[in-house]
Amino acid sequence: MPTATAPSPYKTSTGSSTGPNGKAGSHVDFNAITDQQFLRAADHMKLEDEIQLRLRSPYREMVVQVPVRMDDGHLEMFHGYRVQHNGVRGPYKGGIRYHHKVDLPEVRGLAALMTWKTAIVGVPFGGAKGGVTCDPTSMSRAELQALTRGFMQKIDLALGVYRDIPAPDVGTNAQVMAWMMDEYGKKHGYTPAIVTGKPVNLGGSLGRDEATGRGVMIITVEACKAYGINLKGAKIAIQGFGNVGSWTARLIAKLGAKIVAVSDVHGGIFKEDGLDVDKVLEHVKATGSVVELSGTRAIDNEELLTLEVDVLIPAALGGAITKQNVDNVKAKLIVEAANSPVTPEADEALQSKNIPVVPDILANGGGVTVSYFEWVQNLQQFNWSHQKVIGELEDRMLRAWKAIHARSVEERTPLRIASYVEALDRVAQATRQRF
Ligand code: GLU
Repeated sequence: MPTATAPSPYKTSTGSSTGPNGKAGSHVDFNAITDQQFLRAADHMKLEDEIQLRLRSPYREMVVQVPVRMDDGHLEMFHGYRVQHNGVRGPYKGGIRYHHKVDLPEVRGLAALMTWKTAIVGVPFGGAKGGVTCDPTSMSRAELQALTRGFMQKIDLALGVYRDIPAPDVGTNAQVMAWMMDEYGKKHGYTPAIVTGKPVNLGGSLGRDEATGRGVMIITVEACKAYGINLKGAKIAIQGFGNVGSWTARLIAKLGAKIVAVSDVHGGIFKEDGLDVDKVLEHVKATGSVVELSGTRAIDNEELLTLEVDVLIPAALGGAITKQNVDNVKAKLIVEAANSPVTPEADEALQSKNIPVVPDILANGGGVTVSYFEWVQNLQQFNWSHQKVIGELEDRMLRAWKAIHARSVEERTPLRIASYVEALDRVAQATRQRF
């Protein structure tokens, strides 16, 4: 009989790797992280062994090779993945990541996160993730398009409107989704519901672009209320200024909070009395980065994490806060906008310092929630207004927050365990009903 302490059937290799900013750091095994978090929660709720075994193992994993003729004429072979973790609550759902560090264990861990995330926000999807090991920042538009179409052809047979629906993630965007939809359409005919996060012109949903950041904002507002932080005038630092980080900054600044620091892969900027987020956005549009905005002090990504702020929002890559730097974290609250930005050791250290952490599967569930709305609109060929989208999003995020916060208080357990327990409960129930 398997037990809660049984080793993961998916042990992965260890070795050195680089951190989110390309800096040398300790190896972060994302699958091991999600597995540990799963086990802590399963243990807490005394989940039966057989259900644990079923929920820990991914349903299907695809590894594909994608040859691409590069602009200079040479042929490059890219490695791609699609992991379908669990589909008891509905079709597999999750983004496609383009990043030079993508590997199978990472995609596997991220796929599991999607299963718990869709359960928490109450959308009828399972969990999946995909990725291609590549550096999209150094590829031309033509190369990216060829890679995307080649990848789509290879994973086509695992996808379907009621089977598995990709979306954007780190390194991909609405344009990549448009190519994926187009490629799928060549074989199957017009099928907008095959991917979400498309351009609005091609069947994308209003409000999808801002959805993850809006969800992070909604949850940050609630968490500040719960932990006695006055958001008006509160100091906020955000690591990462991509889709999620920039939308979070915009929406939280509108509420009167001071965004004192933001960063991207090139570095960060700091301003004691708060950055003008619109100016930062303009600067990024003009220069491609937040760095060197006039009137700000240059900081690096590491310093950003250790600033004396009320709320720290890691919105870049996983493994940002580790046992190496956690002792320097001075924030009063951490909201995980990225997936897996806090390692389990760092999580425990924060817990012992009484710094609450709102976990990824709760904080960043807004993206997949609006993906669900997009899918529904595509199936019905009926478009919603922006107002309807953000209203329904707020409703679901608040419901998720209330259930998890109440559980955390009642069971005197951190929000991460409460979130996992809430998710496992729902997925386990569907599992018991099916088998
Ligand atoms: N990539 C996003 C996430 O990690 C969105 C996934 C989706 O919309 O399917 O939640």
